[in-house]
Amino acid sequence: MSITSTTSPLHIGDIAITPLSDGHLDIPAAYFSNASDEEIQAVSPTTRFGATCWLIETGHKKVLVDAGSGTWLKARFPETGCITAAGSSLINAANDITDIILTHMHADHIGGLVADGQSLFPNATVHLQNSEWAFWTDENLVEAVPEDKKPIVHLIQSLARPIASQIRLHDGSADLENGVHVAGAPGHTPGHQIVRISSGGKQAMLLGDALVSGALQFTNPDVHYALDSAPETAAATRKTLFAELAAEQIPFAATHLDAPDFGTLTATGSGGYHFKPLA
Ligand SMILES: [Zn+2]
Repeated sequence: MSITSTTSPLHIGDIAITPLSDGHLDIPAAYFSNASDEEIQAVSPTTRFGATCWLIETGHKKVLVDAGSGTWLKARFPETGCITAAGSSLINAANDITDIILTHMHADHIGGLVADGQSLFPNATVHLQNSEWAFWTDENLVEAVPEDKKPIVHLIQSLARPIASQIRLHDGSADLENGVHVAGAPGHTPGHQIVRISSGGKQAMLLGDALVSGALQFTNPDVHYALDSAPETAAATRKTLFAELAAEQIPFAATHLDAPDFGTLTATGSGGYHFKPLA
């Protein structure tokens, strides 16, 4: 079975990285803060987030990075869950997926792992940061969060249960072999991680939600997002990553950029960056 995409793969040495679009989400401007009136105006009343997952093929492994929303967020975001829809090429080849890297456990990244209480990718090892799994699966979390956050914690915990036997936990950087590494990049969630790919002297990076808004956070990496668990830490992580990406000219992508293109960053001199899609 081959997994198809409307976007062509990026080749890094022997590795192919194919973007898979799970759909899109329209996010209210009120989710952003620590921004100027003009910046907020630019994303009002809503701004469109893409929802990109990736398939990394190394020759030995088929690694899915995040699994999209599945069926779980359609009431709020009807245009989600595409990659795991019935009959999709990914679902038809689900048994071939050897590994799944979860950048973090928000439902728009793990919803596609589970349907009818069953894991949809039963042969995959699922890679997470220890701190992420520990945070979301804590039995006391539902009681600890405000009333409006309880349903999402319930959902995340119900999605975690069917995949528990497939989980492999990491503490910070870990070599998953064949040129694929994960590395801690906290702030959006306690154990958020990114993916580093290297082969043949070339590199690429998948940022997950270390960057959420292409409209706001390239020019102003200090903009906060309501779903960041620690917005200051998220901004510090983002700035460290942006500095490295610009200095090394590493091609990268992030889940919620409006287009699934890889691109590079150039510092603009005002603390901001310019994103240039790869030609
Ligand atoms: Zn997300």
